[in-house]
Amino acid sequence: MKIICIGRNYTDHISELKNEKPEAPVIFLKPDTSILLKKQPFFIPDFSEEVHYEVEVLIKIKRVGKHIQEKFAHKYYDEVGLGIDFTARDLQQKLKEKGLPWEKAKAFDGAAVVGEKWLTKDSIADINMLNFSLEKNGETVQKGNTALMLWKIDELIAYISQFFTLKIGDIIFTGTPAGVGKVAVNDRLTGFIEEQQIFSIQTK
Ligand code: ZN
Repeated sequence: MKIICIGRNYTDHISELKNEKPEAPVIFLKPDTSILLKKQPFFIPDFSEEVHYEVEVLIKIKRVGKHIQEKFAHKYYDEVGLGIDFTARDLQQKLKEKGLPWEKAKAFDGAAVVGEKWLTKDSIADINMLNFSLEKNGETVQKGNTALMLWKIDELIAYISQFFTLKIGDIIFTGTPAGVGKVAVNDRLTGFIEEQQIFSIQTK
């Protein structure tokens, strides 16, 4: 399986990082080795002084597809989840300045938290009106709503599948809202979709 991530998909997060609104979604990949193993803590890597959490809504692909039309995109997933796109921000900044790919900053081991709980699409009233949030040590640090996405989930699936064949089990990280920040040792990060807890992890 592969993980396809979308960058800069929320207007407020763009202004926070002083990025320009892109003409098309920014896409990058994480390998399966980046998935944080179940019940394991997230070990802050020693090559970064500034690892940031980015809470994101996840989509799990259930059918193989290529060149999927937006109007059919909803047929390609029926589970929605939540995760963290951990980012070594200092390293990413250096790579960006040199025009180099971001993988070292975003695709390292443990950099993809995939919440153990998935919600079925049927259990959600409107997928484009979904509240989600992240708590750090009991305090809400990020709050988002999928209504604020620059590119909606079905648009993302259509766009991504122009370049990559989507396969069963692939996961899309749909981008993060404002409020990204640094993690320290012994932080507890807990993610919610609406009122439901989707994951809770510890940093080491
Ligand atoms: Zn992200």
